[in-house]
Parts: sequence; structure tokens; C-alpha cells
Amino acid sequence: MAEKAAEYHAALDAVLELGYCALTEGANGMDVVVQCLTALENDPHFNAGKGAVFNDQGVVELDASVMDGATLKAGAVAGLQHVKNPAKLARLVMDSTVHVLLMSDGAEAFAKVQGQEFVDNEYFLTPRRKEQYQRWEANKKNGTVGVVVLDREGNVYAGTSTGGMMGKKYGRVGDVPIIGAGTYADNQGAAVSCTGHGEYSIRNNVAFQINARM
Ligand code: ASP
Repeated sequence: MAEKAAEYHAALDAVLELGYCALTEGANGMDVVVQCLTALENDPHFNAGKGAVFNDQGVVELDASVMDGATLKAGAVAGLQHVKNPAKLARLVMDSTVHVLLMSDGAEAFAKVQGQEFVDNEYFLTPRRKEQYQRWEANKKNGTVGVVVLDREGNVYAGTSTGGMMGKKYGRVGDVPIIGAGTYADNQGAAVSCTGHGEYSIRNNVAFQINARM
């Protein structure tokens, strides 16, 4: 990946700049988390939204979550196949339902009611992922996206979005939409967004544990 490093850094710098400018202007931290995650989901470099990895049936299934460290409110979605921006939907679960986590068809039905943008599953596929899938290469470092924010009021926020792991079993849900595993935010501790083999983060409650230690 060495020759690609500059491209990845440029993509990350652009999103960092976007978030930093918004925060400097006094934007709400959760707005910034979702804005940055959306930009990363739309960028094919990363394993979230467009450019996500495939499951064992060659289909993209997306997970995302967000958490507000001031209120401990959280929203998450799992197993989406047609919602263009899972992070936006996670935020809607937090703001517009009494639930924390919605999955697959139910989550997509909710997305429809909320007027979210839908795409064919092919939209998420990129040539690079097709090639990886053909080689069935379990690449665990391929770019789940995470955003953590500290805003001008001193509140912290976290959000994470992913396609999961290449070749994952159809229906598998990873750590990303599990609050406390892949994402956690608490003003008393820290804002945390995890990447890596999600089953370990679920079993060890990694995001919450890091927050608790902080
Ligand atoms: N944590 C993600 C998952 O297990 C994968 C990743 O971070 O690359 O779904």
C-alpha cells in the first residue's frame, strides 16, 4: 500500500479539515461526526459505504453507529444493503426512535420513512473489492471509518461506519453497531471508535473499557 499512502492521507486530511472548520465555526459535535462519516462513506478508499468489503455471498452489508458523550444517547444500524449513508441513519435511530439498534429490512423500512437515499447494492462495489473478493483475502486492516469529536462546549462524540470483514458470513454483525464494543462516548471519559477484528471488540467490550479506564 506504500504507493497509495499519499492518496489515503489526502482523503483523510480533507475530512479532518472539513470537521475542524465546522467545529471552529461552532457546529454541533454530532453534526460534525455525521458529516465526516458521510464524506468517508462516499469515498471509495475506505471500507464503509462505497468501497466496503463483501460478505460471503458477494453482497455488501453495512453497519454504523453514533454516540453522544454528553447525554449517552446512541443510535446504530446493522446489515444495510441499500442505504447510501448508514451513519445518517444511525443518527436518525438515535434522534427519532426510542431504540438504539435497528437491523437489515427493519432498518431499511425506517430509512424509507425517514427519506434516506437508497442505492442498488452494486453502487457500493468497487473493482478493488471485487478483486479482493475473488482472492477471498481476509484483509482486516482495510479501512473501517471512525470519527471522534471534542466540540467547543467540551462535549465528546463518536461514530463508526463499516462494511465489516471481507467474506464475513451473511447476517454477521460486527462490533461497529454494538455500543460499548466498536463505539462509545462519555464526557466523563473519552470518545472511542474501534477498528480491527470485531468479534474481539465485542467479547472484550473494547470501546467501553477504554472509556472506563480514561
Ligand atoms: N471492526 C470491523 C468489523 O469487525 C472491521 C474493521 O474494523 O475493519 O466489522
